[in-house]
Amino acid sequence: MDDRIFRNTMGKFSTGVTVITTKVGEDVHGMTANAFMSVSLDPKLISISVDNQANMLKKIKESGKFAVNILAAEQQDISMHFAGQKKRDSEVEFENINNVPIVRDSLATIVCDIHDSYRVGDHTLFIGKVFEIDLRDGSPLTFYQGKYGNYREVEKKKLTIYRLVTVDQ
Ligand code: FAD
Repeated sequence: MDDRIFRNTMGKFSTGVTVITTKVGEDVHGMTANAFMSVSLDPKLISISVDNQANMLKKIKESGKFAVNILAAEQQDISMHFAGQKKRDSEVEFENINNVPIVRDSLATIVCDIHDSYRVGDHTLFIGKVFEIDLRDGSPLTFYQGKYGNYREVEKKKLTIYRLVTVDQ
């Protein structure tokens, strides 16, 4: 099967956008990723998929911890920066939770220890055991068919309710 057809098909699945962050010693590293999912409620587990060629792979393995920062609609520049698409003019500011760097002003941040990892084809799946969550109000950055977008609620249409009335004659 052609790679392009596979990519185009996967692009039909609209997602949010995250930046994965980790720290080895004093060296902070970030990478944009949309291959993220919730795995289990009890225990609380999530998963991310990291390209075996990405610098992030070695960093996460060395650190044993990572954070998934779910980006807000206003953070497209952050996504592009950590995907190596377009550098930001200003420095990216990080905060810390339990010595794990997190991206400031994200919609939500999920901080994890590595629970398991599986090399699968040209990527590695990391299963993260969640130990801290940081949550904010706001609207998410989205990604669909290779393009960034925003989430908008579908307007609720007024429902006309018809009742079947039986009339005695
Ligand atoms: P590098 O290429 O080394 O770094 C990425 C960029 O982040 C560089 O510009 C670097 O300067 C900057 N950076 C890193 N750390 C810091 C820091 N501390 N301070 C300031 N800048 C820093 N790839 C996947 O493997 N899995 C996915 O799920 C995935 N999803 C993606 C979704 C989208 C929407 C996009 C656009 C890309 C996605 N990618 C994904 C591709 C991935 O983001 C890029 O290939 C990325 O460049 C690879 O990361 P790397 O670890 O090799 O980082």
